[in-house]
Amino acid sequence: MKAIKPHLPALPDYPYTTAQALIKLDQNESPYGLPAELKAELASRLAELPLNRYPRMHAETLAERIADFEGWPESGVVVGPGSNTIIFALVAAAQNILDVQPSFVHYEHSAHLLGAPYKAVLLREGFELPVEEIQQALSEGEPGVFFLPNPHTPTGAFFALERVAAIAQTAAAEEWLMVVDEAYYQFAPADMKRQAQGELHLAILRTFSKAWGLAGARAGYLLASDEVARVVRNLLPPFGVPSLTVLAVELALEHPGYVAEAVEKVRRERDRVYLELKAHPVWDAYPSHTNFLLIRTPDAEAAYQGLLKRGVLVRRQDHIPGLEGAIRVTIGTPVENDAFLQAAFELAKEEWGKEKEPDDATGED
Ligand code: PMP
Repeated sequence: MKAIKPHLPALPDYPYTTAQALIKLDQNESPYGLPAELKAELASRLAELPLNRYPRMHAETLAERIADFEGWPESGVVVGPGSNTIIFALVAAAQNILDVQPSFVHYEHSAHLLGAPYKAVLLREGFELPVEEIQQALSEGEPGVFFLPNPHTPTGAFFALERVAAIAQTAAAEEWLMVVDEAYYQFAPADMKRQAQGELHLAILRTFSKAWGLAGARAGYLLASDEVARVVRNLLPPFGVPSLTVLAVELALEHPGYVAEAVEKVRRERDRVYLELKAHPVWDAYPSHTNFLLIRTPDAEAAYQGLLKRGVLVRRQDHIPGLEGAIRVTIGTPVENDAFLQAAFELAKEEWGKEKEPDDATGED
């Protein structure tokens, strides 16, 4: 079709397929969501919401609340209906894209859609951050936007801040914009917000979809310099954050205590599931600083289907180079995690004929 840029029809769809299952552990959502009393408060505020009116052009009232919450100048806060939309706007703004591999697929997907030149540096063995190779790529190429998810997805690894900061220094010297995507920062030991303050070449991306339990509301934000924020804002559709979203997220920001509680429960469960999986005779889980675990299996299709047959939906990752046989499971409630573990051990017996290893088996990390 002549009306459409010729590269677009040939591009693959966003790599996500879903299935019906009793236990949904495939999208790194929070198993908890808003507490019941906040849901009731939301319902009563909703009754007063003037839905006949447009929301603010760039969710200015919400940006102000986020600025207060984060201790960031309001002029540097960009709110979007999901951090995915902000990634898309950043890619639209960028001369070039640099990524790591494996990585969050939306960076590469957006680059191909928008026709931005795209390059990626491979993570080292054990998903270690290749600092020198990234610094070299930043020095060699024309400047653009470098995306680094930390904690890293889809592996769950956490890159030490000194190493991330060393890359940020090179990015600044070479006039790149480095975006640290902190979608999972609440589950990790540290974050880069302080280092980004006052920096033109470093920005932080966060979301309400994970720890805040508001994936359905669709809201994310960028903490950047005024200059970068203005450009990104202008690339987002005007009036793009729905009033319904603003209402829910502003209410959540008034009660951040529930998030700390949910995060604590998820972290505890993540460590329990990881430890229990050490006794799995065929699968190997990687350590995680997120709300999910990446697991290496001999056959991702068999693992996925076997779990699904037992009512547990996970995400395949084996299409990603370097992640052959991998699946990713979100940490759910204790009951959901037990169901996953039970299915995982049953499957080992049925599919691979192996029994649970004795309690003192440690396995390998
Ligand atoms: N960044 C990372 C690293 C993610 O894993 C995700 C969601 N899977 C997002 C951004 C997008 O989140 P949202 O659009 O829901 O804010």
